[in-house]
Amino acid sequence: MQPPGTIGQSSQLGTLAAAPAAHQPEWQDRPAYREACRALSSAPPLVTATEVRQLREALARLVTGDALVLQLGDCAESFHECTPRHTARKLDVINRLGNRLTELTGRGVIRIGRMGGQFAKPRSQAIERHAGLSMPPFRGHMINSEVATPAARAADPQRMVRAYEAGDRVQRLMRTYRQATGPAAVAAGPWSSHEALVIDYESRLVRRDPDTDDRYLGSAHLPWIGERTRQPAGGHVALLASVVNPVGCKIGPAADPEDVVRMCEVLDPAREPGRLVLIPRMGRDLVQEALPPIVRAVTHAGHPVIWLSDPMHGNTVRSLTGQKTRHLTDVVTEALRFRDVVEEHGQYAAGLHIEVAADDVTECIGGSVTDDDLRRHYTSLCDPRLNAEQATELLEAWVKGTVTCRS
Ligand code: PEP
Ligand code: MN
Repeated sequence: MQPPGTIGQSSQLGTLAAAPAAHQPEWQDRPAYREACRALSSAPPLVTATEVRQLREALARLVTGDALVLQLGDCAESFHECTPRHTARKLDVINRLGNRLTELTGRGVIRIGRMGGQFAKPRSQAIERHAGLSMPPFRGHMINSEVATPAARAADPQRMVRAYEAGDRVQRLMRTYRQATGPAAVAAGPWSSHEALVIDYESRLVRRDPDTDDRYLGSAHLPWIGERTRQPAGGHVALLASVVNPVGCKIGPAADPEDVVRMCEVLDPAREPGRLVLIPRMGRDLVQEALPPIVRAVTHAGHPVIWLSDPMHGNTVRSLTGQKTRHLTDVVTEALRFRDVVEEHGQYAAGLHIEVAADDVTECIGGSVTDDDLRRHYTSLCDPRLNAEQATELLEAWVKGTVTCRS
């Protein structure tokens, strides 16, 4: 068994040197750990190698600028919302927003859900206090429960198996949906994606493409690396460097351009279109300063990356009543500034990565939601999501190029 938090020289990962990975649960001593890892290692992949190749090819064509990407979904998926009914509603929102973007631009839209495995969250605080008790924070249903008791917050490796099963239910319906919409829609998706955070889970779902013998990650079509785990010599980058899926990486405002280039070199040494999706999430006030040196450095290094804006994670604030929220005007402003910077450097701003709920939630301020409305329907397990109406305003502003939304 490999040591905790490292990518060891396991049979599945060949000769990769052990690389440290941040934000890993400490659960290797729990009785269920070995059995959970064994179950994952022998389980069928959740996505097929053919599907992974189809998405990579669709993304490779996108570099020429004739289509857009829309990646969206919950901040954290819930195990309890992986039923066919919930999944169908999420797919419906993704498709409605994708269709709206096509209607507005006349371009095809590759749709990617934060779905079918978005069950693990990196957290900034190691400890929280509730009712006088200290406990770990909620870290996603793959690791613990959102219920605020020390017992419910203990990391439980058995949850990896439940994550696989819940992901399987979602991925099956996504597949049916792709197939039902016919061959022309295959490139459009919807494809699955999540942050590949828990190395114990992801490393055991690496499989071989039966046609090419290439290694691919069988947990999602498009895994991404979070802002907190994108160290070029770290375990997350090493794991995704070892598979052929298209991979994403979030980039925050403190990123060193040279570090980003080092990370690109590890993930995309052959400089292949369709391999790497960079997702800056800088914040409205920092994007104009922080993004240009990164776009310049990556372009200069010759990586044909896909640039997507995550205009949400750099714009999280507390509302007057103390809730975590985001203002739609900040989100729109960052997205438009992102596009200006990318285009000023002669690159293609390919689309958006956003947190959107299938329900009519009141988690972000803007459109018809004011500060006073936030408590009305705030159900996110983690970060505040746009509702479909707010997301539509964002798409319309993205196409018009102006901030027009009410806030
Ligand atoms: C997220 O996408 O929910 C997230 C944690 O993002 P980031 O890594 O950009 O902070
Ligand atoms: Mn989030």
